[in-house]
Amino acid sequence: MAWFGLVFSQVVFDPGGKDIVSQHHVIVIGGGIAGASAAFALARRGAAVTVVDSALKGQATAASAGIISPWASTAEGPAYELYAAGAAYYPRVIELLAQAGVERTDYRRTGALLVSADPDRLTEAQARVEARARTAGGIVGDIQRVDNAEVRALVPVLAPDLEGVYRSAGRSRT
Ligand SMILES: Cc1cc2nc3c(=O)[nH]c(=O)nc-3n(C[C@H](O)[C@H](O)[C@H](O)COP(=O)(O)OP(=O)(O)OC[C@H]3O[C@@H](n4cnc5c(N)ncnc54)[C@H](O)[C@@H]3O)c2cc1C
Repeated sequence: MAWFGLVFSQVVFDPGGKDIVSQHHVIVIGGGIAGASAAFALARRGAAVTVVDSALKGQATAASAGIISPWASTAEGPAYELYAAGAAYYPRVIELLAQAGVERTDYRRTGALLVSADPDRLTEAQARVEARARTAGGIVGDIQRVDNAEVRALVPVLAPDLEGVYRSAGRSRT
């Protein structure tokens, strides 16, 4: 079995951090986003952490587009709450990684474009994003309806019958 190990040294504590696991050496199985996040959180609390990964085919994190945009999702209830909380926490993770010496994450607030040939679906999606933006803070950015010319100006390869809902990058670019 192929494997790799990452041992994070004891990094920074934020004031709310609890030193509950500093005496432990924890092995995390799986080095995708879930395992890496767990490992980083444990390491920040002082644990020695080793991440083991079998390098199986079909690793989702490696395949992912890395898009963080829960607000237009049709997910509802706890699934949406978890999804949105993760997105809201992301800038903090980037800060924590920077404090731990990770200089390059490729995280950017680029905005997002939702397209459809069905104006009713766009109206519905726009209402959903606007409602969620009211509780999500500035991270969602400005939301506006864009016609086909604007859609194609943003993404020239898109079909000529699509309109869109565009949301800007939100607060600062990270
Ligand atoms: C094509 C594609 C695009 C996506 N785009 C997005 C997107 O834009 N935005 C978004 O939010 N989500 C996206 N996702 C979803 C997202 O990538 C996954 O939800 C997320 O990466 C899952 O992370 P994970 O850590 O649970 O799993 P994985 O990343 O699959 O990690 C699991 C790891 O465990 C290892 N493993 C498994 N079994 C064992 C074992 N027995 N022993 C040791 N190691 C083992 C595997 O090798 C793997 O590395 C996309 C997914 C795909 C497939």
